[in-house]
Amino acid sequence: MKQVLTLAISSLFILISGNSCNSDESVTTEENETNTEVVSGTVDASLFLEDGLAEPITMVEKTLSDGTIAMCYKITTTSTPSEHQMGPWCPTNISDGADKGGKWFENGELYDVDGAFIENMADFYADATWKMYDENGDIYVTNSLEDCQNAANPNVGEEYKNFCVECQPSYVTDITLTYYIPVTPVKLDTPIYISNGAPGGNGGTPPEGGPPPEEGGGDNTVIGLAFNGVNFDPPAPTANILGAYTLAPMDDNGGHVNPNTGYHYHAATGMTAQISQEDGHSAMIGYAIDGFPLFELLDEDGTEPTDLDECRGHTDDIRGYHYHVAPAGTNSFIGCFAGAQGTFEVN
Ligand SMILES: [Zn+2]
Ligand SMILES: [Zn+2]
Repeated sequence: MKQVLTLAISSLFILISGNSCNSDESVTTEENETNTEVVSGTVDASLFLEDGLAEPITMVEKTLSDGTIAMCYKITTTSTPSEHQMGPWCPTNISDGADKGGKWFENGELYDVDGAFIENMADFYADATWKMYDENGDIYVTNSLEDCQNAANPNVGEEYKNFCVECQPSYVTDITLTYYIPVTPVKLDTPIYISNGAPGGNGGTPPEGGPPPEEGGGDNTVIGLAFNGVNFDPPAPTANILGAYTLAPMDDNGGHVNPNTGYHYHAATGMTAQISQEDGHSAMIGYAIDGFPLFELLDEDGTEPTDLDECRGHTDDIRGYHYHVAPAGTNSFIGCFAGAQGTFEVN
């Protein structure tokens, strides 16, 4: 798909109102201490692929994370990508090639989870406890909804030690997720850091002393939404996963399935619908939950922007404020939210 994106640019200081229903008009009134920023664009709900929607997108008023009441798009999706297959995740034998498995990230790199990766885990992690296969080279893989529920949570049972954890999409066919994304983003004076992530997008470290991070937006947030309706999730709790001697690979699209929220991404690997830009800027891949657009990392000529802020955002005349997602191996997309977040709920 190729579509040219045009965002309405305004150089005015726009304040957000709780009672406008029209996304095409600049809205005014209601001073709020936390948002007196230039707002440069509005969300274009028509960019979402119809096949991923459980119902047509509507607009409703919602309270954002900073208390602002704002008109939001209500986007209910099936979390099922329409433009790519899901899986595979775990290879089944240590002789399997990369086509039989997915990906895992470590130290900023994305690795193929093929048979050799599984075979080498004790060396890779310098820990002889790792041995995820039997004498025939067959890999221990979860194979039921019950296994998936028990293994894909913060307190992985001992019995799943040395299991490759995968949840099949067929386990979660009856849920939809509803996202409320502000039609017009509300830029914050102080960005909101992503829980269990870190400034600069180096996610994956659980907060010290805090509750263990959960999979699938367990802190009740998501990073954003791809055009196919699948969410970009906060960093996977890799320390917990590895600490239990399990592995929960992503597929080559950067996604895997959680029994509570379904399929979601932890890495942007360039496999989802994109909107290319006429000026050589990197392609747009979706929206953050604060309404600011998400773009790929590299521009058309392969260069990475050098002026990103700690949220991984910057501003230009055509797109206004927007994010560039982190490299796929970092287990993160952005470093923080520059805008007040909308919400999401599991139905
Ligand atoms: Zn996950
Ligand atoms: Zn940019």
